Formats: sequence, C-alpha cells, structure tokens
Amino acid sequence: MLVNEHVRFGEGGTGDPVTGDRPLLYRESGYFYAIFTCEIGEPEPLPTSYEDVGIDLGVMHFAALSDGTFIDHPRYFRKAEKKLAEAQQALARKKRGSHRCKKAARQVAKCHRKIANQRKDFHHKASRKLVNRYQVIVFEDLKTANLTRRPKPKQDEETGAYLPNGASAKAGLNKSILDAGWATFTEMVSVKAAWAGRAVIFVDPYKTSQLCSGCGAEVKKDLSERWHSCQCSTELDRDTNSAILILNLGYQQLVVGTRPTQATA
Ligand SMILES: [Zn+2]
Repeated sequence: MLVNEHVRFGEGGTGDPVTGDRPLLYRESGYFYAIFTCEIGEPEPLPTSYEDVGIDLGVMHFAALSDGTFIDHPRYFRKAEKKLAEAQQALARKKRGSHRCKKAARQVAKCHRKIANQRKDFHHKASRKLVNRYQVIVFEDLKTANLTRRPKPKQDEETGAYLPNGASAKAGLNKSILDAGWATFTEMVSVKAAWAGRAVIFVDPYKTSQLCSGCGAEVKKDLSERWHSCQCSTELDRDTNSAILILNLGYQQLVVGTRPTQATA
C-alpha cells in the first residue's frame, strides 16, 4: 500500500499557497513540505474485543459515547481560536494591498494551518483509541445528520437581531474549528478499523435525538435542553441517550444482515 506523508521540515519565506496537484516539494503559507512515498506492511488485525460503542458526534462534546463517557474538544483548540481571532482582527485593520496587509494575511493562514494540523492530530489519536478498544463502532450517517445537527440562528422578535443559538453559544468554539471535522474523523476511524479487523457501521440518524433509549417513547427536546428525562425513569445526558440509540440501530443493521458500510471519501 502506498501512502503519501506530508512532512514539514522548516519555516520558509513568503510562499503563496499551492493549489491543485502537489509537486514533490512545495511551499504553503511560509512552510516547505516534502512528500515522501513509502510502502507499509500488511493489515494487522487486533484481537477480538467484546465491547461495542455507539457514537454521537456533536458540538458540546466532540463525541458522546454510548457507555456514558465523552471525548471533549481539546483545550488547545480554544487557544488556537483566540490567536486566529486576533490575527483576523489585525488583518481587518490593514490597508488593502499594503505590505502589512500581506504580512497579516500570512499570519491568518498560519493560524488556519496550525488549527488544521492540531485537529488532524487530535482525530488520529481519538480514532486510534476507539479502534483499539471497540469491536463494532456505530456512527450516524453524516450526510443526513449534518442537515439536522446545527440549529438555525434564532431571531429576536422585537429587534430582528440574531440571538446566539443553543449549539454555538454553549460550545463557544469557532465554526472554523468545528468544521471539516466529523467526516474526516469517521473516515479515519473507518480506515483504522478496516486494518484492525473491526467494524464501522453508519446508521440513519432519524429521531436519534428525540426517542428514549430506555423505552422507545418519543421525548421531544429543544436543542438547548441538554438532559433526557423520560417517564420510564430513564435519566441521561441527551447526547449519551442518542449514542445508545445509535448503537441499537447499528445492532439492528447487523441482525438484518446489512453489511457494515465503509465511509466514502
Ligand atoms: Zn423512556
């Protein structure tokens, strides 16, 4: 199997981002990259695990697991976010086309790249942990989930001003940090799982936020409601409740005999 690894090996001068096909050596926002192509070994299946997991990817927590635990956004995302905001403000103050403007723009690009690298690192580590521990990993099918996941901005009835909506206000993380995250992450889990002989299943997320994982009853919740409370005495974090439903949907798919699907790029 051939793998391209992008390795950063030094800070350079003033490069324009290279788009399209990468040459073997290229420069992007001030850094030089070399692409090494190497051969890596055969897949190594891990011993069978008897633990399975359903995962609800979200905004409050990066992921809620059906066992009641959470994977949180790393703290360094907030640090990077603050730096990015500062760089963006500095850029906004510069005269267009000026030397200082170009310099500030490079600084913004540098922040974006750092966030992207940190996110990738975090995704690699988190996906490795999941694959090492669980035999069957169930996610929501993000193609449909993304449509319903983010609440629409709320408008103030009197002034017409946009109010912070539940998700962004509570999570407090910049959109640029959350974006491009879930699909890449599930892809990483799928690839690692395939190599380790573990299964990844994607299920239709329909109503996974509204049904009770204890009794199946519908318990309608506003996006701002973080707690799932049902008459059947099920009391759970709403995302944990969703993760359990996701796991159960995954089991149903296994029973029906649907082959586990792999994420597509
Ligand atoms: Zn219930």
